[in-house]
Amino acid sequence: MFRRCVLSLCSSVGICIQPQPALAQPSVTPRALIEQAAGAVGRLESIPPEFVLEWTAKGVLNQSAEHQGRHPATNEFTPFTEAGMLDPERRTVSIEYHEQRLDGSWEHARETATYPDRWGITGVGEHWSVHFESPRFEAEKWRRMVRRFPVALMSELIEQAPAFSVVTEAPGSVHLRGVLSTGETATVEISTTGAHLLSIRYQTDIPTLGLVGVVWRFSDYRPLRPDIQFPFRYEVEVDGRPYIRMESEQASLVRREESRLVADASRQPLGEPRAAPANFFDPSRSARVSTERPGVFLLTSLRTGFHVLFIELQDRVIAIDAPAGYPLLREIPAGDAAPGVDPGALTRRYIQLIRETVPDKPIGAVILTHFHSDHAGGLREFVAAGAEVIASVRARESVERLINGPTAAGDELSTHPRPLRFRGVEDRLTIDDPVNPIEVLAMPGNPHSEDLLAVHLPSCNAVYAADLIYPTPDAAEFPSPAHSVTARYFLSWLESMRIDPEIVYSSHGSPRAGREHIASLRRLRVP
Ligand SMILES: [Zn+2]
Repeated sequence: MFRRCVLSLCSSVGICIQPQPALAQPSVTPRALIEQAAGAVGRLESIPPEFVLEWTAKGVLNQSAEHQGRHPATNEFTPFTEAGMLDPERRTVSIEYHEQRLDGSWEHARETATYPDRWGITGVGEHWSVHFESPRFEAEKWRRMVRRFPVALMSELIEQAPAFSVVTEAPGSVHLRGVLSTGETATVEISTTGAHLLSIRYQTDIPTLGLVGVVWRFSDYRPLRPDIQFPFRYEVEVDGRPYIRMESEQASLVRREESRLVADASRQPLGEPRAAPANFFDPSRSARVSTERPGVFLLTSLRTGFHVLFIELQDRVIAIDAPAGYPLLREIPAGDAAPGVDPGALTRRYIQLIRETVPDKPIGAVILTHFHSDHAGGLREFVAAGAEVIASVRARESVERLINGPTAAGDELSTHPRPLRFRGVEDRLTIDDPVNPIEVLAMPGNPHSEDLLAVHLPSCNAVYAADLIYPTPDAAEFPSPAHSVTARYFLSWLESMRIDPEIVYSSHGSPRAGREHIASLRRLRVP
């Protein structure tokens, strides 16, 4: 049809337009493909109302620096296990996981969402739990958490079929691109031979990486019932690198009253939100600035359990860290642990509070303790505000990528670009000031992150430390076993630097650790 029009244009007007190849007509409609796949994989509605889906899986998690690990752009994997339960009738999804980190710390927690009322995370066998009940994100939370189950994704794709179209057809599979019910664009790949859902891919803005592609692949489908199939393997790739690879040990449909996770969740219900040491943003809490001594300001609870310091010098302000949330890569698309906000939101709030506290001086620089999402993900906001970036020489490439690369946010720095001013710290950097001189110190050989820096304020014998200690309000409970390896390192580092601080300000947990906490650390080292 197209070709004929072009030819007639040639003959009647006397100009010739090169004929273009017509788009290949897809051989099947998106709806037919989706329905075929739903017929094989099943749908949420295929699970009988008295049953829940349970599974356990074992695998590995990439711990490169972009994912809160030690070195940038590496594939260092650590063990990860999960057990979960999906209850479509009660609209509940619960995932219990155990994560072992490269720095020797671990996290064992259970995340539960019930649509549309609440979402929470509980430390299993630990002292903390947080939960949110916020209409701002709850409805989407359930969707993002359950899309990892092809059986749930198929139900959504059937609803959304009119918003999908065929983009490519390859032997054995078809890619459909369209819009999910929560508004994001995604591409799904359906096998034409087994009619399985093979993958889903989308772009997401990750605070440490900028805009990158994420792909979930499902394989090794096995029947749980004649009309329901479960993928016994899945893997997630972020920006072309493997992020997680999991294999299920078992998956089955069990009666609700026989489900271990349903029983555990009701035995240990989500508690009231607590301040520490959960690392999640709680929209109901508000940040507070306190003056620790003239010119030294502590900003607590920028989100739950996250605190920063900023220091007023004679002619400028120096801030420490550029906070953002964490991307929750186990959701589709990745949500943010600071829900409902863009990667720059926490740091914008931080900058606003600095300006309210010290209205007459510019923000001269921001010191990054290390390039993890929660400490550096808001960096673009500081650069947009004209601040120099002081960070480890080992963080330079990551910083450059974040400042110069694409982001989805369309933030201040993309509308008003500014060049990056970077000052790298090898071992030590001293910032002179008559009242509040600052020493920025490398922490060589630390287990947490190769670019980790500490900030020492000699005038008040204080140290700001990130991620090595998680102070509890009661020094007798400190340090928690989950962080004893990093806490030990911190003590030996203090000793090697001959620093015996009066106070340690901590990014996580309680904001201040005093002499009693240091004494607890020393006891930990006594065998
Ligand atoms: Zn960290």
